Amino acid sequence: MPLVDFRKEAEFLFDEMVARRRDLHQYPEMGFEEIRTSGIVAEQLNQLGFEVQRGIGQTGVVGLLEGPQDGPTVMLRFDMDGLPIIEESGEPYASKNVGVMHACGHDGHTSMGLALAKIMAKYREQMHGRIKFVFQPAEEGLGGAFAMIADGVLENPRPDVTFAMHIWTPEDVGTVRVVEGPCMASSSVFTITIHGFGGHGAAPHLANDPIVAAAHIVTALQSIVSRNINPQESVVVSIGEFRAGATFNVIPDKAILKGTVRSYNNELHRLIYRRILEMATRMAEAFGCKASMETIAIVQAVVNAPGPTAVVRAAAEKIVGANRIVERRTMASEDMGFFLDEVPGCYFFVGGRNEEKGYIYPHHHPKFNFDERAMIDGVAIMGEAAAHYVLNSV
Ligand SMILES: [Zn+2]
Ligand SMILES: [Zn+2]
Repeated sequence: MPLVDFRKEAEFLFDEMVARRRDLHQYPEMGFEEIRTSGIVAEQLNQLGFEVQRGIGQTGVVGLLEGPQDGPTVMLRFDMDGLPIIEESGEPYASKNVGVMHACGHDGHTSMGLALAKIMAKYREQMHGRIKFVFQPAEEGLGGAFAMIADGVLENPRPDVTFAMHIWTPEDVGTVRVVEGPCMASSSVFTITIHGFGGHGAAPHLANDPIVAAAHIVTALQSIVSRNINPQESVVVSIGEFRAGATFNVIPDKAILKGTVRSYNNELHRLIYRRILEMATRMAEAFGCKASMETIAIVQAVVNAPGPTAVVRAAAEKIVGANRIVERRTMASEDMGFFLDEVPGCYFFVGGRNEEKGYIYPHHHPKFNFDERAMIDGVAIMGEAAAHYVLNSV
């Protein structure tokens, strides 16, 4: 017999979750600048009697809830940061911090984390073990997870298992995505600089045009996925920035290309970068130019461990029903990969799409929004999963 009806508990806190989420939505903060947000989180956790630590990974907050009996340590992770986007949702609770927007749903995640903290605090006396509530800054490519690990978030106590989730508008509200094994890609970025020899647009024969060389490089890179990678693998190579020149009639000295590589394994990542470098340097040479490349690894793939994934799947079956669970991976990335590399766990997705209400926009879109009922599903499933370790009989 379950000790706690997590769906009921989450439904009971729904209005509070919505109010909190909308407040956070109005005052989004960029990565490592979550001063107001982390202040609210710390205050709430303090009120609930958690042992609270601030400044873990700059603006990160950790709240520890410990039961009277010994048992496993479960880490639950929620991200808090916004994005540099001008909001166009038209909602009355749209961003008041112009140029910053909660366009990924992390306002929802923070609100869900606080609701779940409130629920679990009620059952503290029955707990064996502890739950570490981790509110992470700077998930959006700035290295928040890494900063928290460097500040010891995975020590004292070290978690035995970890869970995190994302509200996900590619899936309908009421559905849940859970996949064992790799579910989000590793991500890295690269910059290629093509050095040519500038000159007058009317005398191209006296110049070595880096724009023409760069254009050929962009085209050639498209063949890596189609010609060098096993068709059964999932890989993306995208150029997102092509910068060169300043006016009509001047051939510039250099061109700059920036792009990203996504894959589910590091070996493929190395192969792709070897091919990018070969193509860039040789293609540049063919046009009398020179190319150099810099790469930065952003995050590892998110890989779900079998045990914790089965726990989430069972929780999702209970909360939304087996027929509302979908198994799909994404080439998007998440720095939860850093935590999952050290601690077994599961990262899952809670559907937030609702066409009738117009919540159809992808994450990072200026009109992004989600069906707030998704927060009930997420809190209930994560609560169930945590309870499996610290509340139910072992
Ligand atoms: Zn995002
Ligand atoms: Zn996100």
